[in-house]
Amino acid sequence: MPDFNETVTLTDLSIWDGDRLIDADTLQLCAGVITFIGQGEEARISDPAISCSGLTLLPGLIDAHVHLELNPDEKDPPDKTRPEVIPLMRERAAKMAAAGITTARDLGGGAWFELALRDEIAAGQTPGPRLICAGQPITTPSGHCHFWGGQAASAGEAHAVLKRQVEHGVDLIKIMATGGRMTKGSQPTDAQFSQATLSSLVAAAHQQALPVAAHCHGTEGIRRAAHACVDSIEHCSWVGPEGWASDYQAEVAEIILENKVWVSPTVNKGWQRMLDNPSGKVLGRVRSAYQQMVDKGIPMMASTDAGIPGVYHADLPHALKVFAGIAQLDQSATLKSATSAAALGLGISDITGNIEVGKSADLLIVDGDPLSDLAALANPVHVFCAGRQVTA
Ligand SMILES: [Zn+2]
Repeated sequence: MPDFNETVTLTDLSIWDGDRLIDADTLQLCAGVITFIGQGEEARISDPAISCSGLTLLPGLIDAHVHLELNPDEKDPPDKTRPEVIPLMRERAAKMAAAGITTARDLGGGAWFELALRDEIAAGQTPGPRLICAGQPITTPSGHCHFWGGQAASAGEAHAVLKRQVEHGVDLIKIMATGGRMTKGSQPTDAQFSQATLSSLVAAAHQQALPVAAHCHGTEGIRRAAHACVDSIEHCSWVGPEGWASDYQAEVAEIILENKVWVSPTVNKGWQRMLDNPSGKVLGRVRSAYQQMVDKGIPMMASTDAGIPGVYHADLPHALKVFAGIAQLDQSATLKSATSAAALGLGISDITGNIEVGKSADLLIVDGDPLSDLAALANPVHVFCAGRQVTA
């Protein structure tokens, strides 16, 4: 494996830069950043050089919604976060990196273990994607994911939970704006905080320069979160009394668009079940909601909610094909949603998401051409996370 501080040259590549295929076949990286992109004959070919004939290089993938702490094999989350989970979290991070996921946003845990992991990875002590962490989500008593410790019975308590996250060094704030399926007694349709509380929490987070992600299934929660100017709406399921995706409201979508809120749809590969039943009622509704959001120009970033039952941490490369099928996106738009667009949505486009000199060397090199078939994403040959080569 090359030394972090020596120049590595990748030759004979096709390069998709996060926007288009570019006229270059060679890339060099050194000390974590991309230092050269161009034709092989212009490059001062260094040793080590890695020949990549037949391979395509693209920006490393970004999963905008994961939970490192959750075990996908457990039906019910544990009532308390215990230190025994730490080595498992390291394993999960290593698997994500090996699959080509070079950045992930962790949207909730109970004991800030993922923040310690974030710092270990950044220091090069353990392999994994760059992590952006929310810590404990702010929720209501017995509300969605209350077992993580972020319960608040009043606006004052909610602000105290927020302050606690800031003290622990989080990168953003997560608010549960509706109930969810994973928590017994909580209902996806129900909004969890008043407009006034949500708006004041978002303002307080923004004052600390922290973005806000809001978990939203029901339409009323989506409306309040969009109105409060959160930075991303997670799930955006448009759940109404008639069920999943039954309550899309154009007027709420308009607020999302106007307030420049990103949607992080958490489409995992299990949604393939829906695609396998094309005459299903729910598929029709979900597709129609996505179609309308896409047509309106609402920006989306790919995400999986990895860690919830049955959704594994390294699944994003497989989930993207399913997301494309649900939202009816072409390959290029789908790849953008997990690279350049996701970096914009997470506010890190100055660091990653594109193949550009000076950007972090977050590189996924796959066998074949993902622009003609997204299935190629499942065959990573080389991965670099912030310039560190990862082995499967
Ligand atoms: Zn989640």
